Amino acid sequence: MTSESVKVVVRCRPINDREKTLNCKMIVSMDTSLCQCFIEKPGTSSEPPKQFTFDGTYFIDQTTEQIYNEIAYPLVEGVTEGYNGTIFAYGQTGSGKSYTMQGVVEPSSQRGVIPRAFEHIFETIQCVENTKFLVRASYLEIYNEEIRDLLGKDTKQKKELKEHPEHGVYVRDLSMHTVHSVAECECIMAQGWGNRSVGYTLMNKDSSRSHSIFTIHLEICSTDAAGKDHLRAGKLNLVDLAGSERQTKTGATGERLREATKINLSLSALGNVISALVDGRSKHVPYRDSKLTRLLQDSLGGNTRTLMVACLSPAADNYEESLSTLRYANRAK
Ligand code: ADP
Repeated sequence: MTSESVKVVVRCRPINDREKTLNCKMIVSMDTSLCQCFIEKPGTSSEPPKQFTFDGTYFIDQTTEQIYNEIAYPLVEGVTEGYNGTIFAYGQTGSGKSYTMQGVVEPSSQRGVIPRAFEHIFETIQCVENTKFLVRASYLEIYNEEIRDLLGKDTKQKKELKEHPEHGVYVRDLSMHTVHSVAECECIMAQGWGNRSVGYTLMNKDSSRSHSIFTIHLEICSTDAAGKDHLRAGKLNLVDLAGSERQTKTGATGERLREATKINLSLSALGNVISALVDGRSKHVPYRDSKLTRLLQDSLGGNTRTLMVACLSPAADNYEESLSTLRYANRAK
């Protein structure tokens, strides 16, 4: 595994109205040409800011189009050639994960990574000669370490994680949906999105407390000059992670606190897996520590590509969370 197969970029969103009203200072800055990000501890302007370097840094006025073209494009292209890839956004609630992954319609430069990936895949497969593609999608949620099929007949039913000696880890009876176009992909994604378990915290009342994985499975059948068929398979996981914030700030108690502990468990397990992969020297990659990492096992490491977009708020009152996101992202590098 070369470090080429895991890319980590950081994106800082603009200051929002709430932060403006509170007169929050901007404490994050970037040198995008050197891929560096700086964070200043509030009240310590005389001290040098902490500095981090990533595979890419994107500041407040930069677009998802740039992120896609510069860093996500080769990963998605690889999927159409039969490799597995995973893209996920990490960060506290309100830091811009959905903005990056789902995006907005206007301006078109800020359309999300997900619709861009759908378009990319369908455009590519239409152009490849002597090759047939079967495109299927699945969508699941991990909530409290329990798996649910967001596109299944009964979205409340818990699904079991199984391991096949040859095919690896899979979810028993997860529904697969054949898709023929970008519109069909978007339609079933919207349907599944509406089926997630939504929790309410003080930070963002409709923030999701669950992790969800939308997977596009490609079966590729190419015919060579001698008329012989060759089969390959690739898949793209688009992962929407729950917010990384710590419970103290969200005001969670009871059930919400239990949830939060499990959310943090999956996130730290994911961080441990990625850092073991990046390190390359670790003999043991701790995939088994959470459902999220077990499920992504065949798409993290090995012959696959992973992209993490770590999302940040620039405001002083998010200093602790932003620093912890930068540390998490830095470890994954
Ligand atoms: P998260 O998914 O991490 O909870 P969101 O993506 O919902 O956060 O972003 C929170 C708010 O900030 C939204 O209103 C979103 O439109 C805005 N926002 C996030 N990133 C950007 C950005 N890069 N440019 C402009 N607005 C952004």
